[in-house]
Amino acid sequence: MKASFYDLNYSDLEQLTAQNNLNHSAATVLFNWHYKKKQQAQCVDNLAKSSLAFFQEHYDFSLPEIDTVHESTDRTVKFLFKLKDHHKVETVLIPFHNKYSICLSSQVGCAMNCSFCFTGTQGLKRNLTTSEIVGQFLQAWRWLATHRPGEERILNIVFMGQGEPLHNFDAVKKACEIFLSQHGTSIAAQKITISTAGYIPGLKRWSQEIPGVNLALSLHSPVEAKRNELIPINKKYPLEEVLATIDQIPLSKKQFITYEYILIKDFNDKPEDAKKLGALLTGKSAYINLIPFNAFPGSQYQRPDLDTIEQFKAILDTFKIPTLIRTTKGDDVLAACGQLNSKKHNL
Ligand code: SAH
Repeated sequence: MKASFYDLNYSDLEQLTAQNNLNHSAATVLFNWHYKKKQQAQCVDNLAKSSLAFFQEHYDFSLPEIDTVHESTDRTVKFLFKLKDHHKVETVLIPFHNKYSICLSSQVGCAMNCSFCFTGTQGLKRNLTTSEIVGQFLQAWRWLATHRPGEERILNIVFMGQGEPLHNFDAVKKACEIFLSQHGTSIAAQKITISTAGYIPGLKRWSQEIPGVNLALSLHSPVEAKRNELIPINKKYPLEEVLATIDQIPLSKKQFITYEYILIKDFNDKPEDAKKLGALLTGKSAYINLIPFNAFPGSQYQRPDLDTIEQFKAILDTFKIPTLIRTTKGDDVLAACGQLNSKKHNL
């Protein structure tokens, strides 16, 4: 089987052209064609015949196939992709003013088994390859170009789909390198966010290997026992150690870490929870994202009412920590946070 072209970052391509005595401009031309122009057909633009022949012979240019598309009334789009081995993953385009953020999956299923997350009920099937991650972006872009022409602007990338991105570090890192490359999509590091449940081995590699990319931590409770219940890996990598590891990450003046907090009715939505959270994050370059719990078939938790959510935020405001209540998008097609489950997508 041929290797996928979309597994190569720019320096891999440079190396390949050098090793195979191809014109060194081939790397730039190919990146430009596939990632900047995002052309579907084979590259013919300014590419020497010998280079074209080499890449056609050795590389596969196919992308994950779009299996189904669900469009929400709020214009959120959820894609179900079919991979070569017939596994499926989901990707979500989240609209804002005719532009989009894309929520990418990093694994088929997830090993974290968080009690509030639909994906967790699937278990981990396997890691996605770089080409399967980059492919979600390219296919979503092409879909927009066809179905919403003029709106093919994906300005932010968040790794908040299925999977724990730091548990698939190498493939996610390479996908980031491809997105960041100035020869291709040229997406700024500040426009990419990787969300983690607190997987310390990945966090330790973070700042060294993908500098500038934003980090979001799924915190969900400052109380050890409650966090253990929500996020089982907290028993192995406790919040205190996770926060200490994050504190080591050098941030620029304008940079901050996003702390995500799912609000669950009568579980972590009380004023004491807000006060503990505020105290825990005081003094950090923090930004809090409150996510009202999204229900899914069979879920055991509920969402608090709006008053409770606003009171929770008001307490955090007294700590002077910037806090945003994340509005839910796409929940009519099960595309909201925590509702992705490629096995049960038809529910
Ligand atoms: N594994 C990573 C990324 C995937 S989850 C992580 O844990 O961060 C992306 C975000 O969706 C996380 O903040 C996660 O906690 C949140 N989420 C998961 N299930 C949810 C649900 N049912 N309702 C609301 N948010 C949920």
